[in-house]
Amino acid sequence: MEKRDYYEVLGVSKSADATEIKKAYRKLALKYHPDKNPGDKEAEEKFKEAAEAYDVLSNEEKRRRYDQFGHAGVGGAGQGGFGGGMSMDDIFSQFGDIFGSFGGFSGFGGFGGGRSARRVNRGTNLRVKVKMNLQEIATGIEKKIKVKKYVACQHCNGTGAKDGKSYSTCSTCKGSGQVTRVQNTILGAMQTTSTCPTCEGEGKIINEKCTFCNGEGVLMSEEVISINIPAGVGEGMQLSLSGKGNAARRGGVNGDLIVLIEEEEHPELVRDGNDLLYNVFIGYPEAVLGETVEIPTIEGKVKVKIEAGTQPGKILRLRGKGLPDVNGYGKGDLLAKVNVWIPKNLSKDEKKLVEKMKEAEGFKPGSGDKKSIFSKMKDFFD
Ligand SMILES: [Zn+2]
Ligand SMILES: [Zn+2]
Repeated sequence: MEKRDYYEVLGVSKSADATEIKKAYRKLALKYHPDKNPGDKEAEEKFKEAAEAYDVLSNEEKRRRYDQFGHAGVGGAGQGGFGGGMSMDDIFSQFGDIFGSFGGFSGFGGFGGGRSARRVNRGTNLRVKVKMNLQEIATGIEKKIKVKKYVACQHCNGTGAKDGKSYSTCSTCKGSGQVTRVQNTILGAMQTTSTCPTCEGEGKIINEKCTFCNGEGVLMSEEVISINIPAGVGEGMQLSLSGKGNAARRGGVNGDLIVLIEEEEHPELVRDGNDLLYNVFIGYPEAVLGETVEIPTIEGKVKVKIEAGTQPGKILRLRGKGLPDVNGYGKGDLLAKVNVWIPKNLSKDEKKLVEKMKEAEGFKPGSGDKKSIFSKMKDFFD
């Protein structure tokens, strides 16, 4: 399924502020909530789609990356596709934020139940560096990387309880993860709600710990993760793969995998945004008589003709031979700057040759061609 633009999903403009985004999501979440549309697959997809859009656009950093790289920047495209990033639990864990911690939900016959109140553990984000050379940047690439990370313990299904079964609902909070106390004060009865001290907000108590993970529900493991890196990325850019970070303690929400791009230097080409720069060196006679030179590009060497009478500093522009824009706005150019090599150590005979040139009228600056040399001089400062 083709992913829709997150702004389009929420029906807000690209410049929408946090309040507008929240409001738009709230509306959609209520409309497509599974409790209101039982068994309706389409509503469920819409519900998930909206939650995913909100997850990204409500987070300043994720939104910035999305604006910059699109779905690829937030681990959307090709990373397991829809629902790969957010589970229903992730979605419900957002709801405290959206509907206020209390009240909002009970108005709907308590849909979502105690889910919104229960604390959800979140795994930590994992950071990895990925080196890219210019060839890889030019095309984009799928990189497979091995990461050490916490994964859900398979012996207890991530619950931390022996065989995944040895737990019971917390009797203090009846599984809600929160306790409400009523205190009589001079202002009357005051109700306070806090995290359940018995289960630390998890809503359940482990009777017998899983011995493989010592009740944590996670184990350190190695995983090979494939990352689709879009073309045009550069040094210091970050991609975020939602849910690919560390697993949370006792079956919570996975953290994200943050991929930091490191750019390897190219032996000959220098990057300047989407353009590539190259210095061509030619001899004095070649500048005078013209010459065909080879210029390295990402796709291999190309032959370029240098016209007779080319001035040093002239820039040859090879259109489209630069790098693709990371947002898909076309390609940069390769700019080759012509440098004329001036020799220092000449033999007697060679010096004589140059002295002859010095005497020749045609070698005086601007001779016979004043107009063109002065216009070209101006070109050097562009
Ligand atoms: Zn375990
Ligand atoms: Zn409890």
